Amino acid sequence: MIVRGGTFGPVATNTYVVADREGGSALIVDPAAGSSGWVAAAIDEMQVTPVAVLNTHGHWDHVVENHIWDAQGIPVWVGRGDEEWLAAPAPFNPALFGNPPPTPGVTPAAILEDGDTITCGDLVFHMIAAPGHSPGCQVAYNADAGQALVGDLIFAMGIGRTDFPRSSHDDMVRSLARVFDEVPGDTVIYPGHDRWGVTLAQAEPYARMFM
Ligand SMILES: [Zn+2]
Repeated sequence: MIVRGGTFGPVATNTYVVADREGGSALIVDPAAGSSGWVAAAIDEMQVTPVAVLNTHGHWDHVVENHIWDAQGIPVWVGRGDEEWLAAPAPFNPALFGNPPPTPGVTPAAILEDGDTITCGDLVFHMIAAPGHSPGCQVAYNADAGQALVGDLIFAMGIGRTDFPRSSHDDMVRSLARVFDEVPGDTVIYPGHDRWGVTLAQAEPYARMFM
């Protein structure tokens, strides 16, 4: 599994292009504000075909450029619970995001459930519902590669905020406990913000401070 990452937009959101191999298939993960040129260049360099946009959750900063890829016929996938936010993306916290111009919405082609499997060429991801930061947060775990896209569930040294509308700290604690239980500690994680490439075991003690 090849992962290219970049950081974009007003709250430093990570966008990833994940491919099975050069010349193969790719997922565009969380297309952040201002990421589209970088994504297009990564796709071009690796000569990969994007099969879908995967939103780790529906918050504005992770979905704001969905419409650019949707307009090219690339399906957008998101976890059950956050699909409404894709239809009408809007930042709910002007203190963080200011008041940007309206973002065109998209209709998700698939609404993913806990336990679903998604594929991208040779890659297989098991979807683990991880509500808390938002109701529809999901972890995409690739057991063969030992890698996971974790969105804003957990960062290299922290966890996603739970003081937003529709957040739940209790759900967050349950989701973290479940992921620590079900995903091996040596799994390399790719979070929605901050550094990527640490292992789940390296990030766990920092998350435990909030549990
Ligand atoms: Zn978020």
